Amino acid sequence: MAEAPQHLFVSEIERLESLMHDGHQGLYWDPDALDGKGSRIITHSMLKQFRKCPLCSYFKYVLRLKPKMLAKPLKRGTWVHALLEEYANGGDWEALHAKYTDQFNRLFDEEKDYYGDMPTEIYTIVKSYMWHYKRDVWKYVANEFTMETPFPDGTLYRCKVDMLIENAFGLWLGDRKTHKTLPDLSFRIRDSQSALYLWAARENGLPVQGFIWDYLRWKAPSVPKLLVNRQRISDSALDTDYPTFVTALKKYKAENPGVFQIREKDREYAKYLQGQQYDYGKMQTSEHFRRDILEKSDELLDHVMMMNYHTALRMNTYDFSDINAIEMADPAPSMFGGCFYEDLHIAHIMGTNLTPIIKQNYIVGDPNDYYQDRAGEFEKGK
Ligand code: SF4
Repeated sequence: MAEAPQHLFVSEIERLESLMHDGHQGLYWDPDALDGKGSRIITHSMLKQFRKCPLCSYFKYVLRLKPKMLAKPLKRGTWVHALLEEYANGGDWEALHAKYTDQFNRLFDEEKDYYGDMPTEIYTIVKSYMWHYKRDVWKYVANEFTMETPFPDGTLYRCKVDMLIENAFGLWLGDRKTHKTLPDLSFRIRDSQSALYLWAARENGLPVQGFIWDYLRWKAPSVPKLLVNRQRISDSALDTDYPTFVTALKKYKAENPGVFQIREKDREYAKYLQGQQYDYGKMQTSEHFRRDILEKSDELLDHVMMMNYHTALRMNTYDFSDINAIEMADPAPSMFGGCFYEDLHIAHIMGTNLTPIIKQNYIVGDPNDYYQDRAGEFEKGK
């Protein structure tokens, strides 16, 4: 019987590794990495982006285009993030909030109209978060730190982690996320970002047990409305929490002495909301905050690492030399509007010259400068 061709026994990983010759700079080269020796870098955003759409990776990592509009707005998520980081570090988060509020107040009126009363909403969210986790038994070991560890071909995997936490059960990595609605368990089991972070931590000798997602909802808890006759609050359905509800009742009572009444049903509702305060191990019923914990085994982390290593090899050896041959994501209604490079993609397909669009809508810059920025800073105007 004829022998099978030898090349069938070379795995795809080995084939791609053979293309990674010494000095191959990959898609992103950091000359300062490894104490100035320089290294190819890969991050979770790069891997995710490439898997989603190689054309998008071309605009971002090869042409290094950054949408100008990102340089302008204040970002609610980074603002909340910065305050909670300051709080976790024992700093004066209210002073920081005042600084950001001052920046917000200097926006144009149209911009302020667009964002709404962000300073008040963010203050409410952060105060509510602090009350909610008052009985929290975590110790913050580190906040916003970068970890690096090499993939088998030497490409340095770099990640920026929100929190390293210690509780009675050991060390945990954590990420604080703000969402419109809170994600489900299936997402967390399949999520490769947390697995890669844990893999990098264990490779760095940190004995982390697993990952904690610290979820906050975008929307601030709502304030109960005062009736026109000022005698009580409205009975309309409320999407609120204990501190917001009770603070409003106290304020109305103080402003309307002898007129405003706190009813028995208001007291009962306040008690119900108070019962939503976080206690480790207790069922979480808050609509605004949730902490989800997941342990991940070494075996699972190795699987996820190999899958991502495969993507990293494909990304670093991909032929980006001909824009017409670069693969792209199939259009899906949900995807458009979520990609910053949609205008360039459409112009390219229509055969339009991209240069004027690039000049008008983009700047050229380091696509990974997030890893150098201080976390929580506003996007820098450029
Ligand atoms: S619009 Fe979609 S297909 Fe086009 S570059 Fe962006 S992600 Fe890729």
